Amino acid sequence: SFPPETVPQAPEDPLFGLARAYKADTSPIKVDLGIGAYRDNNAKPWVLPVVKKADDILRNNPELNHEYAPIAGLESFTSKAAELMLGADSPAIADRRVTSVQTISGTGAVHLGALFLAKFYKGNRTVYVSNPTWANHHQIFSNVGITVAQYPYFNKETRGLDFEGMTAAISAAPERSIILLHPCAHNPTGVDPTLDQWKQLAVIIREKKHFPFFDCAYQGFASGDLARDASAVRYFIEQGFELVVAQSFAKNFGLYGERAGCFHFVGAPAADAAETVTRIASQLAILQRSEISNPPLYGARIASTVLNDPQLFSEWEENLRTMSGRIIDMRKALRSKLEELETPGTWNHITDQIGMFSFTGLTEPQVKKLREEYHIYMTKNGRISMAGLNTHNIDHVAQAIRKVVG
Ligand code: PMP
Repeated sequence: SFPPETVPQAPEDPLFGLARAYKADTSPIKVDLGIGAYRDNNAKPWVLPVVKKADDILRNNPELNHEYAPIAGLESFTSKAAELMLGADSPAIADRRVTSVQTISGTGAVHLGALFLAKFYKGNRTVYVSNPTWANHHQIFSNVGITVAQYPYFNKETRGLDFEGMTAAISAAPERSIILLHPCAHNPTGVDPTLDQWKQLAVIIREKKHFPFFDCAYQGFASGDLARDASAVRYFIEQGFELVVAQSFAKNFGLYGERAGCFHFVGAPAADAAETVTRIASQLAILQRSEISNPPLYGARIASTVLNDPQLFSEWEENLRTMSGRIIDMRKALRSKLEELETPGTWNHITDQIGMFSFTGLTEPQVKKLREEYHIYMTKNGRISMAGLNTHNIDHVAQAIRKVVG
């Protein structure tokens, strides 16, 4: 049997608790700034027009069936996913130093990477994650027996990057540690290193022989430019690192529930690199087989249809610019309204930060007040999902923040 001493009651996932409280609120002015999913200007989920097109193409294809995908997933999807992340002209792809496995979205890719490292990594079996990071990183790695440690990331004063703290901790970590990095649109802070800072990080990571693990959930969604959002990953590859990348198509295709993702292992340039990667692919296939046997087809088929058609691809880029552009507009509007209202403090961080989230600097009591008095819902740490803002609710949000800040 399983008494409470052996299976204690687990706390509710804070995000799902927040979503429940929002749903139960009957106020017409309620605003959901918790959810990490894109919303249009009417606070509705948005099916990307290019996804709708791909969907129609798939539905009208009489050849399609529901057979199993190969263990490593749809090749037409994984090969394009690799080109998207690494660049179509990547020397790593040309040298056959990349192996890619389709996964259960970004979460599955992080998990497969963690599992692979847990089984095969002979360096320091500790992963250093940013403080804070996407909360799931902690449990994904600890569940497979990898120790989780943190490096400083967010400077509470500037609400920007604590680059000194970050580099000091990564320098001080034992050699050959695993370093988890968000290449763009850091969750939850919205704060990214500059390209110059990435270059400095690469120097330290190289010196310490650390192993870079990139978790990329927002390519194209952050700046609207797919290459720019992948520039950190591409730079590290240019520098000859052996590394892994977890790639999610949840946000950039709006395919949240379809679970389309990919895991990439990139070998360092070496005479035997292609053989190394072949060995690694064989082990990844075994891990995948025992976990999920075969990845789900639908989301990968949608993404593959778009990624393999130049016309649809450029429409997708347009859709990405719509999403990222609306979010950037909301950042500008929120900042300028807070400044117009002479809200105490500085608000430049709202427009300096990028991607889905902003770390506002609001305190826990302020967050509570916003929820209880103004029906505005956000996580306790003061993170807001920018996609929850729109031209209808932004005045209410700015005025409420003005009032709770003092
Ligand atoms: N990593 C990070 C940093 C994320 O923010 C997310 C999405 N919240 C994911 C991975 C994975 O999301 P999904 O499994 O939905 O692709």
